[in-house]
Amino acid sequence: MNYIVLDLEWNQAADLKTKQENTLVFEIIEIGAVKLDKDKNRTGTFHEFIKPQVFRKMNEMTGELVHINFEQLKNCRKFPDVADSFLRWCGEDYIFCTWGNLDLLELQRNMDYYNMTSLSQKPIVYYDIQKLFSIAFEDKKSRRTLEYAADYLKISKDNAFHRADADAIYTAKIIKRIKDEKIFHNYSYDTYRLPKSRKDEIHADFDDYAKYISRPFTDKKDAMKDKEVLSTQCFICGKNTRKKIPWFTNNSKHYYTIVSCPDHGLIKGKIRLRKSAVNDSVYVVKTMKQATQEMAADIAGKYQHPH
Ligand SMILES: [Zn+2]
Repeated sequence: MNYIVLDLEWNQAADLKTKQENTLVFEIIEIGAVKLDKDKNRTGTFHEFIKPQVFRKMNEMTGELVHINFEQLKNCRKFPDVADSFLRWCGEDYIFCTWGNLDLLELQRNMDYYNMTSLSQKPIVYYDIQKLFSIAFEDKKSRRTLEYAADYLKISKDNAFHRADADAIYTAKIIKRIKDEKIFHNYSYDTYRLPKSRKDEIHADFDDYAKYISRPFTDKKDAMKDKEVLSTQCFICGKNTRKKIPWFTNNSKHYYTIVSCPDHGLIKGKIRLRKSAVNDSVYVVKTMKQATQEMAADIAGKYQHPH
């Protein structure tokens, strides 16, 4: 299996009127990628600029960030042709790697805009290298810039950041520096396409927690009465648990619970309600994790003192 390290640059409307006239918010103008073999050695690169079709002017902030001259894009190929070449270059057996969680989302959104064949009919498994960097070298929670990570790992900064080809190469170098294979158990799901039905829903086990991604629901109320969404079985042994603190929320977006498994002790459940990227439906991401007494006390505090 190959790793496709992908980085995109995109432009957005230069003014409010243009923004309101267009359904696409971010127009991809550059695709950069590095192909790594199973040992994470570089075996190829892909790089191409794209002729804009939606926004005819560079957004000021984007222009400053990516320093691409709009003139130079005029003679490039259009998005569908470039994306098609890129996907053929990717080959058959690969997993995407991106810095952060936006690139696959915007790639699929742009492909949909041009009515291209979907990349996938379901959530896409990929590696968020920004997350893996945090797990490997920092506190698992922080999310750093690519330049911070390059500095941290003393990777020489030969090219300017925020250009697709350079950023893909920096990201590939960071991947190579993550030596502990266990870190790569922490894959992510891109949820631009959601599980279609109950049987397609995702139940993924990680080293110290379990994740569930639901099918879409009409609305929050609909989601929060679903049996699977509310289920608090032990994610390690599957046994029924005893409720210590029932599901509750203080902000209608995040729900928490504390339950107890006879064999595995305290478990913290968290439900995040998310909006679909493509329509008005909502879906649920639920995580279950073994909890310390302090974690349980923290949740108990939130339960008693809603804010
Ligand atoms: Zn258990």
